Amino acid sequence: MRRIGSVGGIAAQGTADAGAIIRRVTLTKKPESRPAAASWGLSKRGTPWEYAAAPEATDHIEIRREYGLFIDNAFAPSRPKATFEVINPATEEPLSRVAKASKADVNRAVTAARRAHDTVWSRLPGSERAKYLYRIARIMQERSREFAVVETMNSGKPIKESRDVDVPLAAAHFFYYAGWADKLDYAFPGRTPRSLGVAAQIIPWNFPLLMLAWKIAPALAAGNTVILKPASTTPLTAYLFADVVRQAELPPGVVNIITGPGEIGMELVRHPDVNKVAFTGSTAVGKMIGRAVAGSRKKLTLELGGKAANIVFDDAPLDQAIEGIINGIYFNQGEVCCAGSRLFVQESVYEPLLDKLKARLSTLRVGDPLDKNTDVGAINSAGQLAKIAELVQSGIEEGAEIFQPDCVLPDKGFFFRPTLFTGVSQSHRIAQEEIFGPVLSVLTFRTPEEAIEKANNTPYGLSAGVWTEKGSRIFKMVAAMKAGVVWANTFNRFDPTSPFGGYKESGYGREGGIHGLGAYLDLSANGATGR
Ligand code: NDP
Repeated sequence: MRRIGSVGGIAAQGTADAGAIIRRVTLTKKPESRPAAASWGLSKRGTPWEYAAAPEATDHIEIRREYGLFIDNAFAPSRPKATFEVINPATEEPLSRVAKASKADVNRAVTAARRAHDTVWSRLPGSERAKYLYRIARIMQERSREFAVVETMNSGKPIKESRDVDVPLAAAHFFYYAGWADKLDYAFPGRTPRSLGVAAQIIPWNFPLLMLAWKIAPALAAGNTVILKPASTTPLTAYLFADVVRQAELPPGVVNIITGPGEIGMELVRHPDVNKVAFTGSTAVGKMIGRAVAGSRKKLTLELGGKAANIVFDDAPLDQAIEGIINGIYFNQGEVCCAGSRLFVQESVYEPLLDKLKARLSTLRVGDPLDKNTDVGAINSAGQLAKIAELVQSGIEEGAEIFQPDCVLPDKGFFFRPTLFTGVSQSHRIAQEEIFGPVLSVLTFRTPEEAIEKANNTPYGLSAGVWTEKGSRIFKMVAAMKAGVVWANTFNRFDPTSPFGGYKESGYGREGGIHGLGAYLDLSANGATGR
């Protein structure tokens, strides 16, 4: 085995053989060499004792030095050959290089997907498709530790989140949609459900594996074939999934994965032989895709940005609400489209709630995402970190008051302190724009009507939260808030059976549940295909 470099205290080793393997990474940092707890983000106001280092082992994973495009169940270089680097945002060290697709590669992928759809996949009985989906789900569970570590190294999210949320939920989506594959006629009575054909799926970097599962599982259950384009910063779990596709022995061309810049995503969207486009990402790109698809017969779902209101009434159990607020905005470093980034607190409980919130914020541990004690990991990219910093600066300049816990950030990597702003007005940019970072804007209200008006005063409408003991008030608020998902006395709960999607500039169409299945089917009365 050949030593190939050091990754921020992590020794990276690789074998020279056959280009298949690749790279083994082994933790060499001794626990005692770890910096003092304070330098990993423990607040002076936090626990008076130190957490022992709890790094997740990485010696069981293999990351290839280079990944080709995954078309027809084979990895192959792009044509002409071109690659780009993928890094670990917590260390800024390279992890791998991946193929940069060209327009010709998009054509190859669509041709493969079309052939697989027309000759194999759409012709299989639903019960046979289900077997493949179950197999994928089970392999993902078996390889869950591998998926969690790679996801954390590539995205910067804490290992406890990739281990306990992303990977189990991704597998759960395959299990769930496997169950529907042979029951389409029952799911949509009176219709003749037919697959649409070839689906182009473009996903972002905040939940790389989970977004893949949200897109691929219902598409395959409905009999479509797919071409997935992951975000350029986070393609590694998608390529690990490609390995699962081969292990599950899916017919070639059913799942294809290509990497490349945004323009390649647009080539895919515009391709005349694509029948369905599913996109999750920024509202700006979502609008461009909407324009590109307009006038064609392609079916489209857009899951875009958000600026969710999390509303706390004075009768809410405050300690429980604090946990919901923290989870709502600091989960995944706040890089969550449905993050509860605007907190509305009823005036009568504003002061006690804020005291508790600041105290809780000060206990969050920021640092090495691979440490099992870490609560807030690395921001996904230097560009996203700069965007967060710019918006936080605008909050200060516009007169809001900033609070950040007293923690020291690691020297390398893209880290940002959990932040909250008070004295925020509705017109501030931090109350209007999606920050996509660990930044909370706190506002107040007096009456439910005022809360509703303020909560809805945003171009977005993806999610919201309500904290109150009164069931009747929950129903009133849920009916009045323009948000696709409203959580009551909880936040950021996801389940494959539950539809998710937005209003207004947060997009349209639903993913998850039976609604998410319908988005991949032609349900027209005569059952004609969408081709
Ligand atoms: P983008 O919308 O640019 O990226 C999302 C996906 O779309 C990526 O796969 C990206 O590819 C691809 N893409 C980019 N441009 C195009 C295009 N013209 N046509 C087709 N596909 C395209 O988000 P960013 O990564 O630039 O993030 C910017 C902001 O968007 C964030 O700060 C955040 O506010 C918001 N965002 C919201 C998300 C959500 O879930 N609602 C998710 C991600 C971001 P590539 O990575 O190669 O550029």
